[in-house]
Amino acid sequence: MVNYPSRLSLACVPTPFHCLERLSARLNGPRIWIKRDDLTGCVSSGNKVRKLEFILAQAVTSGCDTLITAGGTQSNHCRAVAISGAQLGLKVHLLLRSDVDADPVGNLFIDLLSGATINHYTPEEYSNLESLFAHWSSHYLDLGATPWVIPVGGSNAAGLWGYIAVAEELKHDFQAANINPGIIIHATGSGGTQAGLIAGVKLHNLDLCVHGYAVCDNATYFDDKIRTDLATWKHEYSVDIDVDLLPVITNDKYLGPGYGRAGPEVFDTIRMLAAEEGVILDPVYSGKAFYGMLEEIKSGRYANEKDIVFLHTGGIFGLLAQQQQLQF
Ligand SMILES: *Cc1c(COP(=O)(O)O)cnc(C)c1O
Repeated sequence: MVNYPSRLSLACVPTPFHCLERLSARLNGPRIWIKRDDLTGCVSSGNKVRKLEFILAQAVTSGCDTLITAGGTQSNHCRAVAISGAQLGLKVHLLLRSDVDADPVGNLFIDLLSGATINHYTPEEYSNLESLFAHWSSHYLDLGATPWVIPVGGSNAAGLWGYIAVAEELKHDFQAANINPGIIIHATGSGGTQAGLIAGVKLHNLDLCVHGYAVCDNATYFDDKIRTDLATWKHEYSVDIDVDLLPVITNDKYLGPGYGRAGPEVFDTIRMLAAEEGVILDPVYSGKAFYGMLEEIKSGRYANEKDIVFLHTGGIFGLLAQQQQLQF
């Protein structure tokens, strides 16, 4: 039995789990299954709300009334915080890194609609994020409010529990489908999903190897980040597993031109999967990872696998913000 900390009910879970039959048959490789965490909610869709169930339980228990967090202009995490904060009656303040003139579309549109207070910072200003967090925290304390800072991507010790819980959900999914997949693939950005899955697979005794596909930074970065986060989590929750022995596997071959920017091969993949399976990927995260997975399947990397799982982490609002990249 895994001892979860307290949790709010914000996500529509368990999410569906099914096989991509036509795609798998056409590729003639392993059967590809998909875990639909793009369906954790409508405007709260994606992986971030999974982490927020645990992060915000902690925040609410501590008596916080103001959430402060940060990310890119099209941050799915910031959008999930904006929506969840509105659902809980908390004030939300977002610090956004805006390197382009920010059109109020996609995630930013939802942020604005949900009434979040927003500050835009240049990449240079944003590079000192810790001091921005400190500045706004003391601002709210001075006003007599109780702020709660959530790190980028919600990737802290509390947030890890979100994907530890997903490992448990997957165990039931595999039993129901009567399969025993050896690999799960997903897009990795701030590392919390990957760290949570790695810990969850261990805690729930799954025979499953977690392959994070980087959308920014290289494998060494993720190794460090995830090992640090796992060590913090172990310490904070006194978990009795040797986190140093856990495997951290990151594929950094498919991040393309950089964070938030994708090449035509990613948009082609998005178009293909939408038409062939009715599943919508995004150009910042899931589309890059899915494209990478297809390339690896074609190159024979997963030839020994009967079944593999793609974790769809969401991101549709990021696609809507880049619609002009697709011509019809
Ligand atoms: C944030 C995000 C990821 C990456 O998750 P991390 O836990 O930050 O590594 C993947 N896909 C989507 C759609 C995201 O919004």
